[in-house]
Amino acid sequence: MNYTSEFWTSVLLAFVTGSVATGLIVWSSVRAKEAQKKAQVIPDGITGALHALATAGLVLDVDNKIVRATRSAFALGLVRDQVLVHPKLVSLVDKARKAKKSSKARAKDFALASELGDATIWVNSRAVHLGEGYVLLLVEDRTESHNLEETSRDFVANISHELKTPIGAMSLLSEAIQSAADDPKQVRKFAKNLETESARLTQLVQDIIQLSRVQSAEVAGTAAEIDLATVVAEAVDRNRVLANKKKIQLKIATTDGIRVFGDQELLTTAVKNLLENAISYSDTESPVSIRLRKKSGVAEIAIKDKGAGISPEDLDRIFERFYRVDQSRSRATGGTGLGLSLVKNIAQKHLGEVQVKSKVGAGSTFTIRIPLATAPIDATGSKK
Ligand code: ADP
Repeated sequence: MNYTSEFWTSVLLAFVTGSVATGLIVWSSVRAKEAQKKAQVIPDGITGALHALATAGLVLDVDNKIVRATRSAFALGLVRDQVLVHPKLVSLVDKARKAKKSSKARAKDFALASELGDATIWVNSRAVHLGEGYVLLLVEDRTESHNLEETSRDFVANISHELKTPIGAMSLLSEAIQSAADDPKQVRKFAKNLETESARLTQLVQDIIQLSRVQSAEVAGTAAEIDLATVVAEAVDRNRVLANKKKIQLKIATTDGIRVFGDQELLTTAVKNLLENAISYSDTESPVSIRLRKKSGVAEIAIKDKGAGISPEDLDRIFERFYRVDQSRSRATGGTGLGLSLVKNIAQKHLGEVQVKSKVGAGSTFTIRIPLATAPIDATGSKK
């Protein structure tokens, strides 16, 4: 090899090395720019902020592809294969992107049908353009509060309907009394009916007031320690007249010292209602029993009758407000259809439950189950 060829080889090598180095520098600066651009369009804080949100949050790019999404967005079933499942949400996102003032959020309430089954979720959605075609979509699940509103609307409608019946009857009866003023026998008959309707109205109003009190009552945490034997004794006392009228013997088996945290009056109402039903839906002279006992950390009050019993279809519905199996029988016994709903609410407020076993023609057993009050633990950790 002579000097000339050595010279040219070095020049070539220097050129190749220089080109590769320059290429690398250019390539890395392009990548850095791209990365910078990306960082600019989805601001750093967005991801962190999304995870801090209680609502579902998503960021969509200019092609409506989801580039960021919180776990709750998946849990709500909003995302499949990096796209939004619901066309209504897509259209809200598109509108936000096209908005002239990019910072102005678009908000809308939607009922979104689930992909499977017939469930619907009720959401409040907000979309805002972040710039460069990126849109932030926030979706708040309001299904629970929507259902609650619907239930209370139904309740108000039901109350109005239930109140209209005795009020209408009272108004007709008072007219009838006036027309029959010259016939004392008829007047006495109508006056008696008026008294019955008035008693029904009083009972209905009392049950409605009690139910709304129970629903807003804060029992757990603020409750006193209650001996359930006194609750049972009081509930039995309140049913003595009714039981005697039907010659029904009440068999009582209780043990002292079974204590729960609770509200004495509410618990008495619950047991009284169950006892009243057991007597009302039993034939004359059919026995009714009440047993109070402890079972694996739980206090149980079981009320057993050998009365009409309840069919399996009705068993699923008897705890609903205003539900009565037999309208005419319930009217005859003066029932409002709220008794069991009250019992269920009271049991739940005491962190407990109510169970029922029943067979048509053989009778029913309703059992209230409430956790026993545990002994307080003092600062040294020993039980008092
Ligand atoms: P009501 O005021 O009509 O008694 P409840 O809410 O107390 O309303 O009870 C709902 C329905 O459940 C009643 O109409 C009745 O048909 C049925 N039911 C409740 N307790 C008994 C029972 N011990 N035996 C048979 N049926 C019962």
